[in-house]
Amino acid sequence: MMTRTVRPLVSLLVPLALALSGCGEEGAGPDAPEAEESEDVQPAEVEVGEFVDGAQPGDVVEVEDGITVRVPEPGNLVAVEVMYEDGNTAVATLVNDTDRGVFLLHPDEHLLGPPEGTAAACATKCDDTSYSHVFANQGVRAKWKSRLEWSYRHTNSPIGKSNAIDAFKHAAVAIPKQRNSCSMSDESSATQRYLGETSRKPNITKSGSQINCEAPDGHNVIGWGAIAGGTLAVTCTYASSDGTNTYRIVEADQRYDTSNQNWYAGNAVPNNCNNRYSLRGVATHEFGHAYGLGHTPAQCNQVMAPSTSDCTSRNRKLGRGDVRGVRNLY
Ligand SMILES: [Zn+2]
Repeated sequence: MMTRTVRPLVSLLVPLALALSGCGEEGAGPDAPEAEESEDVQPAEVEVGEFVDGAQPGDVVEVEDGITVRVPEPGNLVAVEVMYEDGNTAVATLVNDTDRGVFLLHPDEHLLGPPEGTAAACATKCDDTSYSHVFANQGVRAKWKSRLEWSYRHTNSPIGKSNAIDAFKHAAVAIPKQRNSCSMSDESSATQRYLGETSRKPNITKSGSQINCEAPDGHNVIGWGAIAGGTLAVTCTYASSDGTNTYRIVEADQRYDTSNQNWYAGNAVPNNCNNRYSLRGVATHEFGHAYGLGHTPAQCNQVMAPSTSDCTSRNRKLGRGDVRGVRNLY
């Protein structure tokens, strides 16, 4: 049995809303709901911007419909990103702050949109300079402070092994090497290394229709498995505070959906393409999260835009905003 008292994240949300809108928008309000009790082991349901009083490391918290994470140890956070087949995405971060306790944030809800009067405009890939970082709330963000070393589990892959590994390798280097379409130089210090195949599973599990970021296990694994709900991929990123505002990412796992087998490898969009997705493009976006990038404010042309579409290989290379986001972190 788990008991939860939730209270609004006023201290975080109000300053943020003021900073973003300048209009004194209120946070979740001062009236905290009463404690909730559940009779079984269902995950605690919490609203965005709420503290989760009494949450203990290892407790399961539902951060989005059908997506859970385990409460990390104090001084740590877990971010989960989900990309759906309809092109939409969802991001949630559960923080166990040493001083403030456990709280949930949805970074996308705090993104600044395009400037006034340009809301409908979508700058081209090399004109759009926007970016964000996964944990860019209250000045907190996260990055690798060591090399990202990852391994691959081929079991259940709907794509041939060499093509799949090739796609993930390209995706893994696109961020640190700043492979871009805009003739921008690589000024990033981020590094990565492919460790080879593994029998170890990504620590992203599925129970019923629910996807779970399990506790970190110290291994960055990419793998395949069914994901419910028209989902393409899930990335769980774990970070630890080292006393600065830039958390140290300690692990990132990725799970790619096998239920529809609608992927294609390589660079070219297949002939007569319909409802098929570029593995390399989607993986580049997911690796963006693994390196600490968040979504761009607008639904535009950056790899880290908060939506994607089928039958495009656009996301294989970074845009100007993507490159700036990486440079800002690394
Ligand atoms: Zn994303």
